[in-house]
Formats: sequence, C-alpha cells, structure tokens
Amino acid sequence: MPQYHIWTIGCQMNKAESERLGSYLEQLGYENTATTEEADLIILNSCVVRQSAENRVTGKLDSLKALKNSRPQVAIAVTGCLVNSKTDELKRRFPQVDYFFKPGGYPEWLKKRNKELILPQHPAPSTFVPIIQGCDNFCSYCIVPYRRGREKSRPFKEIITEVKELVRRGTKEVTLLGQNVDSYGHDLPQKPDLASLLGELNTIDGLCRIRFLTNHPKDMSPNLIEAIARLDKVCEQISLPVQSGSNDILKAMRRGYTVEHYRQLVFKMRNKIPGLGLSTDVIVGFPGEIRDQFLKTYNLLAELKFDCVHVACYSPRVGTVAAQELEDDVPPAEKRQRLQQIEQLEEGIAAEINSSLLGKSVEVLVEGEKGGKWQGRTRTGKLVFFSRDSDFMGKLKRVKIEKTSPWALQGRVKQ
Ligand code: SF4
Repeated sequence: MPQYHIWTIGCQMNKAESERLGSYLEQLGYENTATTEEADLIILNSCVVRQSAENRVTGKLDSLKALKNSRPQVAIAVTGCLVNSKTDELKRRFPQVDYFFKPGGYPEWLKKRNKELILPQHPAPSTFVPIIQGCDNFCSYCIVPYRRGREKSRPFKEIITEVKELVRRGTKEVTLLGQNVDSYGHDLPQKPDLASLLGELNTIDGLCRIRFLTNHPKDMSPNLIEAIARLDKVCEQISLPVQSGSNDILKAMRRGYTVEHYRQLVFKMRNKIPGLGLSTDVIVGFPGEIRDQFLKTYNLLAELKFDCVHVACYSPRVGTVAAQELEDDVPPAEKRQRLQQIEQLEEGIAAEINSSLLGKSVEVLVEGEKGGKWQGRTRTGKLVFFSRDSDFMGKLKRVKIEKTSPWALQGRVKQ
C-alpha cells in the first residue's frame, strides 16, 4: 500500500485542507505515515504569513533535497500560501518538488473523482469547513491576498450538501472558515451572504453548533449580527480582529475602519447577543507606532475586555506595501515589551471573565481527551476539562464549573 505524509503549518484553513487531503488520499488507497522517510508521497501545506513561517517551509524543502536524491521515485508536492501564480519560478527555486498546487484546488494528478471523497470518513465532532478562499482587502502588512489570491466563495449548495454529509458521518459542530467570512457570497451569481448561509445550515437535523471565523470589522453587517442572535445553533462567539487602537495606525495598516466604528460594533453585538464570547487580534510595534499610539491600543483592550486577545509583534513581509514603504522603526525590545504588557493585561481580564463562571453550569461539546480528562468547548469558545468517567466523546454535556484560570475551566458533569 503506498504511503503519504502531510506536513502542515499555519492557520485553521491549512489544517482543514490537510485533513481533507489526508482523507482523500486514504480513500484512494494511501496509508498515513508519520515520517517522510517511508512516504511515497510527501505534501507540504505551507504558510508564509510571517517571514519565520516561510523560513520554516524553505528549510523543510531544503531538508527534502537529500531524500529526493536518494529516492527519486518519491513524489513531493507543495500547497498552501507559498504557492502563487508564478509556479515556474517556484519550480526553478525548488527542483526537488514535483507538483505545486494552490490551496483548496485538487490537482489533476490526484485524479479527483468524487467530491465526497474529500470529506473525512470519520470526522471529528467539531470540523472545519472552508467557505471562502483568498482576500480582497490588502491590509498593508499582509501577504495573504498576493498568495491566496482574490476572494472566491464556494457555492452555497455545495457547502450545505457537504455539511449534511459531515453530520451524517458524525460531526456535531462546524466552524466555517475564510480569511474574511463576512465577504462570503459576493462573487457568486445569486449573491448569498453569510447570514443566509447560517440560516440554511441552522435547519440541518443533527447539527448542534455553528461557528465561523475570521470576521472583518468593516464587513460585519447588521444582518449578520441579527442572524447570530436569532439562530439557535449559531454559537455566541465572534472573532473580530481590531489590530490597533490608534486611527493613524489603522490607516497605515489600510484596515478600512476607525476605532469609533469598531467600538460601536462591539456595543451593538454585545447588546444583541447576550453572553457573547469575543476575541480579537492585535499587532504591536507597527512602523511608526509611538508609545502614545500603543497606549491607545492598550486602553481600548482594557475598556472592551475581550475573552481572548491574540497579540503579535509586527515583522515586515517582503512583497507587502508596509515592507516596501514603511520603516520598521520600533526596536525589537520595545515590541516585545508592548506584547508582554498586553499579555499581562489580557491575563487579568480573562481570569476575571472566567471566574464569573465558577459554580455555573455550561454546555460542552466533548472533542477529545487530554491528561486523563475529557476536553471540549462551551458555545462561547471556552476550553473545559472534566473527569473521564464515561464515554462522552462527541456528546453535548452539561458541566458544573469548579475551577477557573485565564486559559481554561475545569468542572464536573452534572448528572
Ligand atoms: S483582511 Fe487583511 S489581514 Fe486579513 S487576510 Fe485579508 S489582507 Fe490579510
């Protein structure tokens, strides 16, 4: 039996794609192997969002040169964000690679015969479903639109059929994925939107929960907020990257909204969706960010109190407008200090929010086990651990919270 090995780095889109590729290969008769040495087919699912990620990908490709020399029959393929339209250039740079194919596209040589084969045979209780590829936004620091290309939505009916099939195979929760899910459908003939997709998914019997990410503050419509509030299966969890609390920095980032707009959006969502779990992303040390502008970000996070903040130090990406036109002038030590300040702030906020759940009963979808305990998430996206006394895998359980920390909750199943 031929063996395959998939190496993946990057975001949930890549993880979802790799899961599907693996499932597809297994249904074509391949067997998974944990090492490249034994594989007949090696697929690298790449990420180049940061220079450090791209370096890891090129390092991995370099390390495969010797393998290809000693076993020329092994097929090496690369997908993900490294693959742009200039595949000739990539082929010159990496002659050890046999195939390059764009994310989400299945190349001819994999002989796609049946779309259903792409779906995992035994999907996890919570499964990712990509609904839109690419991005039209061109934030000044981001390489994604240049690598993943323009937004391309998957057909509405195809997604519905796929989710029904996943549910038939055991999925209880889906997370719809895209670089900007709020743009879903604008490029399709009937112009459906995310709200209408959520409405249709909400009617699928056996599907218990629906999530989606990532949102863009300039594209999040009142219609979508209404849909989240109204549809019982759509979880009260939103990821809404703010990136900065300074309007000048947001402008330099080309984000297309102001802090005032963002704040109003948060008020509107919290007003319409009680108990909303809200997370955000922040970049510190963007070119030209003076201390005062950083403090605006810090103060905004202190004011809005997010459940979770993903913070990153700015690093220039070759090929972006920011890397070309703006000087990376915030010293690395200052960037790290700003990052730590935000991490400390968020730790306190998350601890406070989570402690309010002490003694309460929450609904958890059990997704797996870790350290001898069941592990799952609440509707608002909080990680919960509880004792492993019965087989609860894939089940929705009510758990009484007995211990909290900034990062997770622990409890006991309510009988
Ligand atoms: S919205 Fe901006 S940051 Fe997000 S993928 Fe698109 S260009 Fe990149």
